[in-house]
Amino acid sequence: MIDFHAHIDLYPEPNKVVKEIERRKMYVLSVTTTPSAWTGTYSISKRYPRIKTALGLHPQLAHERIPELPLFDTFINETDYVGEVGLDGSPEFSKHKKSQLAVLKHILKSCSNSGGKIISLHSRRAASDVIDILEEHPDAGIPVFHWFTGGKGELKRAIQKNAWFSIGPAMLKSKRSIEMVQCIPEDRILTESDGPFAKVSGKPLMPWDVESAVIGLSRIWNMTPSNTQEILYSNFRTLIESKS
Ligand code: MN
Repeated sequence: MIDFHAHIDLYPEPNKVVKEIERRKMYVLSVTTTPSAWTGTYSISKRYPRIKTALGLHPQLAHERIPELPLFDTFINETDYVGEVGLDGSPEFSKHKKSQLAVLKHILKSCSNSGGKIISLHSRRAASDVIDILEEHPDAGIPVFHWFTGGKGELKRAIQKNAWFSIGPAMLKSKRSIEMVQCIPEDRILTESDGPFAKVSGKPLMPWDVESAVIGLSRIWNMTPSNTQEILYSNFRTLIESKS
């Protein structure tokens, strides 16, 4: 199974989570929320080749962590993966839009200078703005929208920009999201947990809970879970090999 957006460092016992990921032979993108977390988070899973660590600066922290941008540039050459980055236009964070824009533009420039990255993107209530900024930075790499909740028009634009989408169990609960997923080409989809932030029935999701997203996708695609897995693995290989 593939979890292309998990906050391993934010679980109470990250080492146990990593061991279970290894036991299940899962592929995981371990995203970070601040450049200062990079070194510690990378060290949790560096012995496990199936777990990759992404360098991030979460948009909800952008206004506080602007001083860490030089640190971002220090570490950017150590990984092919960037995330979690993006914009958050929800009411409690939209007042920091200026800082968020400055941070995302800096990050995408840094990605371009470093040869392009695979980028796990947050775009809550800000999908159009994120797509606009991606257009300004065509060499930044391959965007993977995580938990996309934009409108159909925005989704269409993102697909035209060759974006990918990581989809979690929480996203497959609403009728609206299921209709969105139906509009995404099968070969641009990966699974994610977004744990421990994302919860189902009040319980933080674990990386292996992506299994229920696989089942949800198999219903949407009208095929068996094992055929669904095959498509997801093939997508994953295509995405990863684009960087090697
Ligand atoms: Mn997240």
